[in-house]
Amino acid sequence: MNKVALITGASRGIGKQIAITLAKEGYEISLNCRKQNEEVLKIKEEIENNNVKCLIVEGDVSKFEDAEKITKQTIEEFGQIDVLVNNAGITKDMLLLRMKEEEFKSVININLGGTFNVTKNVSAYMMKARKGRIINLASVVGISGNAGQSNYAASKAGIIGFTKSLAKELASRNILVNAIAPGFIKTDMTDVLKSDVKDKILEEIPLKREGTAEDVANVVKFLASNDSSYITGQVIVVDGGMLM
Ligand code: NAP
Repeated sequence: MNKVALITGASRGIGKQIAITLAKEGYEISLNCRKQNEEVLKIKEEIENNNVKCLIVEGDVSKFEDAEKITKQTIEEFGQIDVLVNNAGITKDMLLLRMKEEEFKSVININLGGTFNVTKNVSAYMMKARKGRIINLASVVGISGNAGQSNYAASKAGIIGFTKSLAKELASRNILVNAIAPGFIKTDMTDVLKSDVKDKILEEIPLKREGTAEDVANVVKFLASNDSSYITGQVIVVDGGMLM
Protein backbone atom coordinates (compact mmCIF):
# COMPACT_ATOMS: atom_id res chain seq x y z
CA MET A 1 0.00 0.00 0.00
CA ASN A 2 1.27 3.46 -0.87
CA LYS A 3 2.01 6.00 1.83
CA VAL A 4 -0.35 8.96 2.19
CA ALA A 5 0.66 12.61 2.56
CA LEU A 6 -1.66 15.45 3.58
CA ILE A 7 -0.37 18.88 2.55
CA THR A 8 -2.11 22.06 3.67
CA GLY A 9 -2.23 25.17 1.50
CA ALA A 10 -1.24 23.27 -1.63
CA SER A 11 -3.13 25.37 -4.19
CA ARG A 12 0.08 27.15 -5.24
CA GLY A 13 3.66 27.96 -4.31
CA ILE A 14 5.68 25.71 -2.03
CA GLY A 15 2.68 23.55 -1.02
CA LYS A 16 1.86 22.76 -4.64
CA GLN A 17 5.48 21.74 -5.29
CA ILE A 18 5.58 19.58 -2.15
CA ALA A 19 2.46 17.74 -3.35
CA ILE A 20 3.97 17.14 -6.80
CA THR A 21 7.36 16.06 -5.41
CA LEU A 22 5.79 13.57 -2.97
CA ALA A 23 3.48 12.24 -5.72
CA LYS A 24 6.59 11.53 -7.82
CA GLU A 25 7.87 9.51 -4.84
CA GLY A 26 4.68 7.41 -4.97
CA TYR A 27 2.68 9.01 -2.15
CA GLU A 28 -1.11 9.25 -2.43
CA ILE A 29 -1.88 12.93 -1.95
CA SER A 30 -4.54 14.64 0.11
CA LEU A 31 -4.34 18.20 -1.15
CA ASN A 32 -5.83 20.90 1.05
CA CYS A 33 -6.89 24.22 -0.44
CA ARG A 34 -9.24 26.92 0.78
CA LYS A 35 -11.39 26.74 -2.35
CA GLN A 36 -11.14 24.39 -5.31
CA ASN A 37 -10.56 26.14 -8.64
CA GLU A 38 -9.23 25.47 -12.15
CA GLU A 39 -5.61 25.72 -11.00
CA VAL A 40 -6.16 23.18 -8.22
CA LEU A 41 -7.80 20.76 -10.66
CA LYS A 42 -4.72 21.10 -12.89
CA ILE A 43 -2.46 20.23 -9.92
CA LYS A 44 -4.65 17.17 -9.20
CA GLU A 45 -4.21 16.09 -12.82
CA GLU A 46 -0.43 16.58 -12.66
CA ILE A 47 -0.29 14.53 -9.46
CA GLU A 48 -2.43 11.72 -10.88
CA ASN A 49 -0.12 11.48 -13.90
CA ASN A 50 2.25 9.75 -11.46
CA ASN A 51 -0.22 6.87 -10.98
CA VAL A 52 -1.20 7.97 -7.49
CA LYS A 53 -4.55 9.23 -6.23
CA CYS A 54 -5.15 12.87 -5.34
CA LEU A 55 -7.99 13.89 -3.07
CA ILE A 56 -8.81 17.60 -2.86
CA VAL A 57 -9.93 18.59 0.63
CA GLU A 58 -11.27 22.11 0.94
CA GLY A 59 -10.94 23.91 4.24
CA ASP A 60 -9.57 26.88 6.12
CA VAL A 61 -6.91 25.55 8.50
CA SER A 62 -7.53 28.37 10.96
CA LYS A 63 -10.94 26.83 11.72
CA PHE A 64 -10.77 23.80 13.99
CA GLU A 65 -13.92 22.27 12.48
CA ASP A 66 -12.38 22.53 8.99
CA ALA A 67 -9.21 20.82 10.22
CA GLU A 68 -11.39 18.02 11.61
CA LYS A 69 -13.16 17.71 8.26
CA ILE A 70 -9.89 17.75 6.26
CA THR A 71 -8.50 14.94 8.44
CA LYS A 72 -11.71 12.88 8.38
CA GLN A 73 -12.07 13.07 4.61
CA THR A 74 -8.45 12.00 4.14
CA ILE A 75 -8.86 9.02 6.47
CA GLU A 76 -12.15 8.03 4.80
CA GLU A 77 -10.47 8.03 1.39
CA PHE A 78 -7.09 6.52 2.22
CA GLY A 79 -7.45 4.89 5.66
CA GLN A 80 -4.20 6.41 6.95
CA ILE A 81 -2.01 9.52 7.01
CA ASP A 82 1.73 8.84 7.02
CA VAL A 83 2.99 12.37 6.42
CA LEU A 84 1.47 15.71 7.39
CA VAL A 85 2.96 18.87 5.94
CA ASN A 86 1.68 22.03 7.64
CA ASN A 87 2.42 24.47 4.85
CA ALA A 88 -0.54 26.89 4.72
CA GLY A 89 0.58 30.38 5.63
CA ILE A 90 0.07 34.08 5.02
CA THR A 91 1.89 37.35 5.60
CA LYS A 92 0.42 40.75 6.52
CA ASP A 93 3.56 42.85 6.87
CA MET A 94 3.38 46.14 8.77
CA LEU A 95 5.43 48.00 11.35
CA LEU A 96 3.96 47.40 14.82
CA LEU A 97 2.86 51.02 15.25
CA ARG A 98 0.58 50.73 12.24
CA MET A 99 -0.35 47.06 12.60
CA LYS A 100 -4.04 46.46 13.22
CA GLU A 101 -5.14 43.84 15.72
CA GLU A 102 -6.74 41.88 12.87
CA GLU A 103 -3.42 41.84 10.98
CA PHE A 104 -1.69 40.33 13.99
CA LYS A 105 -4.40 37.86 14.90
CA SER A 106 -5.15 36.54 11.40
CA VAL A 107 -1.47 35.73 10.76
CA ILE A 108 -1.17 33.96 14.12
CA ASN A 109 -4.50 32.14 13.63
CA ILE A 110 -3.66 30.81 10.18
CA ASN A 111 0.06 30.10 10.52
CA LEU A 112 0.31 28.88 14.12
CA GLY A 113 -3.36 28.14 14.87
CA GLY A 114 -3.71 26.24 11.59
CA THR A 115 -0.65 24.15 12.39
CA PHE A 116 -2.14 23.32 15.80
CA ASN A 117 -5.62 22.55 14.40
CA VAL A 118 -4.50 20.11 11.72
CA THR A 119 -1.75 18.49 13.80
CA LYS A 120 -4.11 17.94 16.74
CA ASN A 121 -6.51 16.03 14.48
CA VAL A 122 -3.97 14.12 12.40
CA SER A 123 -1.66 13.14 15.26
CA ALA A 124 -4.51 11.19 16.90
CA TYR A 125 -4.49 8.83 13.89
CA MET A 126 -0.70 8.70 13.75
CA MET A 127 -0.57 7.81 17.45
CA LYS A 128 -2.91 4.86 16.86
CA ALA A 129 -0.80 3.78 13.89
CA ARG A 130 2.36 4.26 15.99
CA LYS A 131 4.15 5.96 13.11
CA GLY A 132 4.16 9.22 11.23
CA ARG A 133 6.03 12.28 10.07
CA ILE A 134 4.95 15.84 10.75
CA ILE A 135 6.76 18.57 8.84
CA ASN A 136 6.00 22.19 9.67
CA LEU A 137 6.85 25.18 7.49
CA ALA A 138 8.50 27.79 9.69
CA SER A 139 10.75 30.58 8.35
CA VAL A 140 14.19 32.05 8.95
CA VAL A 141 12.44 35.12 10.36
CA GLY A 142 11.04 32.91 13.13
CA ILE A 143 14.69 32.55 14.20
CA SER A 144 16.12 35.98 13.37
CA GLY A 145 13.07 38.27 13.58
CA ASN A 146 12.41 40.89 10.90
CA ALA A 147 11.27 44.51 11.07
CA GLY A 148 7.76 44.78 9.66
CA GLN A 149 6.97 41.13 10.31
CA SER A 150 6.37 40.90 14.08
CA ASN A 151 3.12 39.00 13.45
CA TYR A 152 4.62 36.59 10.93
CA ALA A 153 7.89 36.10 12.87
CA ALA A 154 5.93 35.40 16.07
CA SER A 155 3.81 32.81 14.26
CA LYS A 156 6.89 31.10 12.84
CA ALA A 157 8.82 31.20 16.13
CA GLY A 158 5.70 29.65 17.67
CA ILE A 159 5.79 26.89 15.08
CA ILE A 160 9.39 26.13 16.01
CA GLY A 161 8.49 25.83 19.72
CA PHE A 162 5.45 23.74 18.81
CA THR A 163 7.60 21.44 16.64
CA LYS A 164 10.19 20.81 19.35
CA SER A 165 7.57 20.20 22.05
CA LEU A 166 5.64 17.77 19.89
CA ALA A 167 8.81 15.98 18.86
CA LYS A 168 9.36 15.24 22.56
CA GLU A 169 5.71 14.24 23.14
CA LEU A 170 5.41 11.96 20.14
CA ALA A 171 8.83 10.31 19.87
CA SER A 172 7.73 7.31 21.93
CA ARG A 173 4.98 6.69 19.34
CA ASN A 174 7.51 6.70 16.50
CA ILE A 175 6.22 10.01 15.16
CA LEU A 176 8.97 12.36 14.02
CA VAL A 177 8.28 16.09 14.03
CA ASN A 178 10.54 18.57 12.27
CA ALA A 179 10.37 22.07 10.86
CA ILE A 180 11.80 23.64 7.74
CA ALA A 181 12.81 27.30 7.85
CA PRO A 182 12.97 28.63 4.30
CA GLY A 183 14.69 31.90 3.52
CA PHE A 184 13.71 33.84 0.40
CA ILE A 185 11.79 31.52 -1.93
CA LYS A 186 10.26 32.63 -5.23
CA THR A 187 6.46 32.32 -4.88
CA ASP A 188 3.43 34.65 -4.85
CA MET A 189 4.34 35.44 -1.23
CA THR A 190 7.64 37.07 -2.22
CA ASP A 191 6.58 38.31 -5.68
CA VAL A 192 4.67 41.15 -3.99
CA LEU A 193 7.92 42.69 -2.72
CA LYS A 194 9.29 45.74 -4.54
CA SER A 195 12.33 45.08 -6.73
CA ASP A 196 14.68 47.23 -4.58
CA VAL A 197 13.67 45.21 -1.49
CA LYS A 198 14.28 41.97 -3.39
CA ASP A 199 17.70 43.19 -4.58
CA LYS A 200 18.66 44.02 -0.99
CA ILE A 201 17.66 40.56 0.20
CA LEU A 202 19.54 38.91 -2.68
CA GLU A 203 22.71 40.77 -1.68
CA GLU A 204 22.51 39.06 1.72
CA ILE A 205 22.26 35.54 0.27
CA PRO A 206 25.72 33.94 -0.11
CA LEU A 207 24.45 31.65 -2.88
CA LYS A 208 23.31 34.80 -4.75
CA ARG A 209 19.95 33.49 -5.86
CA GLU A 210 16.45 33.20 -4.51
CA GLY A 211 15.35 29.72 -3.54
CA THR A 212 12.82 27.69 -5.49
CA ALA A 213 9.81 25.75 -4.26
CA GLU A 214 11.73 22.63 -5.37
CA ASP A 215 14.59 23.53 -2.98
CA VAL A 216 12.10 23.32 -0.11
CA ALA A 217 10.10 20.35 -1.43
CA ASN A 218 13.28 18.27 -1.70
CA VAL A 219 13.91 18.73 2.03
CA VAL A 220 10.31 17.71 2.76
CA LYS A 221 10.95 14.60 0.64
CA PHE A 222 14.01 13.81 2.78
CA LEU A 223 12.21 14.42 6.10
CA ALA A 224 9.34 12.19 4.98
CA SER A 225 11.67 9.37 3.90
CA ASN A 226 13.38 6.54 5.78
CA ASP A 227 16.68 8.36 5.25
CA SER A 228 15.75 10.76 8.07
CA SER A 229 14.53 8.20 10.59
CA TYR A 230 16.92 9.43 13.35
CA ILE A 231 16.02 13.12 13.01
CA THR A 232 13.34 14.74 15.15
CA GLY A 233 12.75 18.15 16.75
CA GLN A 234 15.01 19.88 14.24
CA VAL A 235 14.69 23.05 12.22
CA ILE A 236 16.29 22.65 8.79
CA VAL A 237 17.18 26.03 7.32
CA VAL A 238 16.84 26.24 3.51
CA ASP A 239 18.06 29.73 2.71
CA GLY A 240 21.19 29.71 0.52
CA GLY A 241 23.22 30.65 3.58
CA MET A 242 21.29 33.87 4.33
CA LEU A 243 20.92 33.37 8.08
CA MET A 244 24.42 32.19 9.05
P1 NAP B 1 1.95 31.35 -1.10
O1 NAP B 1 2.47 31.19 -2.48
O2 NAP B 1 1.36 32.64 -0.69
O3 NAP B 1 0.89 30.16 -0.83
C1 NAP B 1 0.27 30.05 0.41
C2 NAP B 1 -0.66 28.87 0.39
O4 NAP B 1 -1.30 28.78 1.67
C3 NAP B 1 -1.76 29.01 -0.65
O5 NAP B 1 -2.03 27.75 -1.19
C4 NAP B 1 -2.94 29.51 0.19
O6 NAP B 1 -4.21 29.20 -0.34
C5 NAP B 1 -2.70 28.72 1.46
N1 NAP B 1 -3.47 29.24 2.59
C6 NAP B 1 -3.41 30.49 3.11
N2 NAP B 1 -4.26 30.59 4.13
C7 NAP B 1 -4.88 29.39 4.26
C8 NAP B 1 -5.86 28.88 5.14
N3 NAP B 1 -6.39 29.62 6.10
N4 NAP B 1 -6.27 27.59 4.98
C9 NAP B 1 -5.73 26.82 4.01
N5 NAP B 1 -4.80 27.25 3.15
C10 NAP B 1 -4.38 28.52 3.27
O7 NAP B 1 3.09 31.06 -0.03
P2 NAP B 1 4.40 30.15 -0.13
O8 NAP B 1 5.53 31.05 -0.41
O9 NAP B 1 4.16 28.97 -1.00
O10 NAP B 1 4.53 29.70 1.38
C11 NAP B 1 4.23 28.40 1.86
C12 NAP B 1 4.71 28.28 3.29
O11 NAP B 1 6.11 28.52 3.35
C13 NAP B 1 4.07 29.31 4.23
O12 NAP B 1 3.85 28.73 5.49
C14 NAP B 1 5.12 30.38 4.32
O13 NAP B 1 5.02 31.13 5.51
C15 NAP B 1 6.39 29.55 4.27
N6 NAP B 1 7.57 30.31 3.87
C16 NAP B 1 7.64 30.88 2.63
C17 NAP B 1 8.77 31.64 2.29
C18 NAP B 1 8.94 32.28 0.93
O14 NAP B 1 9.95 32.99 0.76
N7 NAP B 1 8.04 32.10 -0.04
C19 NAP B 1 9.79 31.80 3.23
C20 NAP B 1 9.67 31.23 4.48
C21 NAP B 1 8.54 30.47 4.80
P3 NAP B 1 -5.04 30.24 -1.27
O15 NAP B 1 -4.61 29.95 -2.68
O16 NAP B 1 -6.46 29.86 -0.99
O17 NAP B 1 -4.71 31.61 -0.81
